[in-house]
Amino acid sequence: MKTVSSLLDEHWYERYTKISKLNIRSSIYDVTNRCNLRCKGCFFFSSGEHKAASEEMDSTQWEAFIDREKARGVNLAILIGGEPTLCFDRVEAFYKRLPTFCATNGLIKVPRERFPDMMIGISLWGDEEDERVLRGKDTFSISSRNYAGDPHTYYLYTITPRQIGRTERIISKIRDAGLKVHMQLLSNDEGVSGFTWKPEELAAIRAEMDAMLDAYPGTVISSKYYHAIITTGSMLGRSFGWKECPSVTQPLDHRDPQPKRLTNFIRWASDLKAMHRCCTSETRDCSTCKDGAAHMSWVMVNKRAHMRTSKDLQNWIEVYEMFAKLYQFLPW
Ligand code: SF4
Ligand code: SF4
Repeated sequence: MKTVSSLLDEHWYERYTKISKLNIRSSIYDVTNRCNLRCKGCFFFSSGEHKAASEEMDSTQWEAFIDREKARGVNLAILIGGEPTLCFDRVEAFYKRLPTFCATNGLIKVPRERFPDMMIGISLWGDEEDERVLRGKDTFSISSRNYAGDPHTYYLYTITPRQIGRTERIISKIRDAGLKVHMQLLSNDEGVSGFTWKPEELAAIRAEMDAMLDAYPGTVISSKYYHAIITTGSMLGRSFGWKECPSVTQPLDHRDPQPKRLTNFIRWASDLKAMHRCCTSETRDCSTCKDGAAHMSWVMVNKRAHMRTSKDLQNWIEVYEMFAKLYQFLPW
């Protein structure tokens, strides 16, 4: 039988040892149903998740809920919404209790005196032109001023088909702002014309993502294996989709057979009672899903399947390291 140590040399085994100790148990929380933008293709609003439950307004209820989540074994709280920075008291309730990641559009600056080392992921949907079309505003000019040089912040760059050939300009601007970037692909949940991926475009953007990682290794947090997985939706001959997705809310997961999945993962609505189906849109057709975190997790929960060859296991390690860096379990 192949073992980890038989597949890895000393260098890779050391890298493996670091991540094998982590045991990350994440869940996702809608901090609020409100946002200061309304992006075309936002999975939260387009799926009606903002109407699934009314927000819990009592901060003591949030605190008690987070204590219960911690007791449930969660060791990474991923805050989304809506826009979490509209509710700093709720964000602080998480931050004081758990390792916390806050997704934001970057328009409101997180006060570092209150949240000194909270990891922040700023959403970015393309260059100025695309951002105006999809989000009604060039957010980068504001968010890059708010966060320039911040060591606990990165851009989550959602690439659209229109960005092919144009990613380098954005990535070099992010480098110049002293920030990091991680890339994923738009799922185009609202069918905006010109923003749905064609196979040849996915092949082109994969090559471009690889080239960006080679050219900006100090700025781009990624791996070529992740690029292959997210652009093809295929891993070790298997296809991503509902049957394989690891990021389904556990109490709602009645799939039979059960795939490898995230342990105890739940995506909670902002009433702290309702649950959403998965880490992203409640209504998305899974065959169109390009969610970056779900694809990363798909790799991560399938370690055993990657114990075929040394290269497969190294690919798995690189994806795991990338995830750990994005959520501050490993340094950049
Ligand atoms: S900023 Fe985020 S939550 Fe707000 S509308 Fe855009 S994608 Fe949705
Ligand atoms: S939409 Fe994506 S993340 Fe959600 S269940 Fe389907 S494949 Fe998984």
